[in-house]
Amino acid sequence: MQSLPPVQPAQSLAWFAEEALPGVWVGFSDTAAGNLAFHVGDEPRRVAAHRAAVDAGLTKLAGSPVPLHLQYMDQVHGAAVAVIGGPAPLPAFPPRGPTADGLVSLSASLAVMVADCVPVVLLGTTSGGKPVVGVAHAGRPGVEKGIIAATVSALRGAGALELRAWIGPSICGRCYEVPEDMRAAVSLVEPAAHATTSWGTPALDLPAAVAAQLAAAGVAARNVGACTLEHHQFYSHRRAVRDGEAEGRFIGFAAMAAPASTTGAAPQP
Ligand SMILES: [Zn+2]
Repeated sequence: MQSLPPVQPAQSLAWFAEEALPGVWVGFSDTAAGNLAFHVGDEPRRVAAHRAAVDAGLTKLAGSPVPLHLQYMDQVHGAAVAVIGGPAPLPAFPPRGPTADGLVSLSASLAVMVADCVPVVLLGTTSGGKPVVGVAHAGRPGVEKGIIAATVSALRGAGALELRAWIGPSICGRCYEVPEDMRAAVSLVEPAAHATTSWGTPALDLPAAVAAQLAAAGVAARNVGACTLEHHQFYSHRRAVRDGEAEGRFIGFAAMAAPASTTGAAPQP
């Protein structure tokens, strides 16, 4: 079992959080923030409460003069990217979000839900210095379909320069066993995905594949992740199925403090 990288505790809502630009926080939650997905059979009111607590924590963390609401998406293991204009609306029930596996915005705070797939948070700035944020959901199909390149392209289309990325917790290449033909097919698209489990069978290294795809797109990436299957502080789909645990999803997020000028609130000191 690998050792966990040092935690950078900002709030209990985040396993990892970092202020990447003034008022812009990137990070990843863990099971301490609870399950944040409505589609895994959890009690909806409990999920809504977990999401509200994360929103409140990020609002405080970012020092936003108005409450932040993370924009989630309806993830389908595709390569579609949605551009979110304006701040994310108040959370609705049932939740509303675009059907996509990548989100990009100049104004909204964004979230990607995962439990073994690779969560990626991206950040750039426009030529005028405005932050542009993105998130991507890169599972095995996303790596094959090019969700990383599509999200980077959408970020650049929104004016993002000098992109950076954070790769969060996901199942590692020593744990993610797949059939031999699947390893061959994915490795053809991205050779860095080729891996072998710790017990010697065919596997895929999705975080390595995502890192290679980010590098190919010219994006500097930092892997702050750990293996979701090996570490119980993260949700893992494979572990849930194997051990009969309840399913859950944690998130990667990019949270931006709303500019005071758009809210009528007093400028921050
Ligand atoms: Zn592992």
